[in-house]
Amino acid sequence: MARSFESNIADWSDWRFHMRRRLTSVGQVLDELEPRFRVAPEVRQGMLEAEAEFPVATTPYYLSLADPDDPRDPILPQVLPDPGEVAHQGEFDPFLEEDLKVAPGLVHRYPDRVLFLLTNFCSTLCRHCMRKREWREGFGRLSDAQVDLAVTAIAERPQVRDVLLSGGDPLHLPPRFLGRVLAKLRERTDLDCIRFGSRVPVTLPQRIDSELLEELEPWGPLYLNTHFNHARELTSEAVEAVRRLSRAGVIVSNQAVLLREVNDRVQDLLDLSRGLLRAGVRAYYLHHCDPVRGTRHFRVGLARGRQLVAELTGKVSGLAIPAFIVDLPGGHGKVRGDGPALQKVEGEIHWYQSPLSGELVAVDGSEGSFAGAGSWSVVLPETPGYAPRPRSPNARSSNW
Ligand code: SF4
Repeated sequence: MARSFESNIADWSDWRFHMRRRLTSVGQVLDELEPRFRVAPEVRQGMLEAEAEFPVATTPYYLSLADPDDPRDPILPQVLPDPGEVAHQGEFDPFLEEDLKVAPGLVHRYPDRVLFLLTNFCSTLCRHCMRKREWREGFGRLSDAQVDLAVTAIAERPQVRDVLLSGGDPLHLPPRFLGRVLAKLRERTDLDCIRFGSRVPVTLPQRIDSELLEELEPWGPLYLNTHFNHARELTSEAVEAVRRLSRAGVIVSNQAVLLREVNDRVQDLLDLSRGLLRAGVRAYYLHHCDPVRGTRHFRVGLARGRQLVAELTGKVSGLAIPAFIVDLPGGHGKVRGDGPALQKVEGEIHWYQSPLSGELVAVDGSEGSFAGAGSWSVVLPETPGYAPRPRSPNARSSNW
């Protein structure tokens, strides 16, 4: 793997190298994977059509975790579009985040907390992202003036105790900009909790460097929910990034998403949970994949998801068992998928009681299915010149 990156391996520990060498198209990713991973021409065409609606991007580091010879590789489905993405006519914003915006980037759904979307940029664009709608009109961040408006709106709402800085990925922002946002929040508000949602420890752990940590450290305690979906992602670099965050006073937990063909076996979840324990990361949530347009192929049926989480009990410490979470469409809030909010099941439909409105909300609990990218049967082992090979010695190790 990582053929075109080998000559630059000395730069591997510098996040700037990975940003300069990001792969930003289906063609670049497939070229990098050749000849070990080939897809049928019609699948490639479907991927290109999906890319036209939802762009593709990943870092050399994250792509290097893929093993194209693994028929159940957990990285590639998170990076390469499935042709079915555009066939799925789901909603762009089923949780009504745009309707609930009260200031630039500021979503106020729960009385006591706000979601503060500082940027829509991520170095790796995860195919299962719930905010794929944000990718379609270019990438950017809030201006200083917009941040001021949003912080003022938070200060005017004393019931808000908890601010979630997210995006996009806020840890891709210039550290000084981030430091200024944190300073304003601490100076103008009296919050219980400032937390980040960030996948940088997973997809670009090199970015957790001293320049960034110096801007975070003065404003602790800070919480960070990161997003490891598979034990393969818990590399030595990623674990070191978590340790650097912890040493700077940032409390790190994990929010995984349950994804078909990525982590939908009990053993996948056990391996992830144990890896998180060793890394000192609390397994906090396992999300049912949201009903967002372009993600349906990833969805694990709700009944199967509940069963998978139930099977973790007794096999691993309770510290490592995440809550299985379903975000109710229509902005009705999050519930435990297997908890008392579940009122009844009618076929594939699960009915949950909203913690916000008290209404019964129907959730489609059916399984999704891949049309191509995640179905490794479309790899063409009979293609002339194809021969599965052992992993490259340059492939990054997850044995830490
Ligand atoms: S890092 Fe998070 S916000 Fe960014 S693309 Fe992935 S899931 Fe979406």
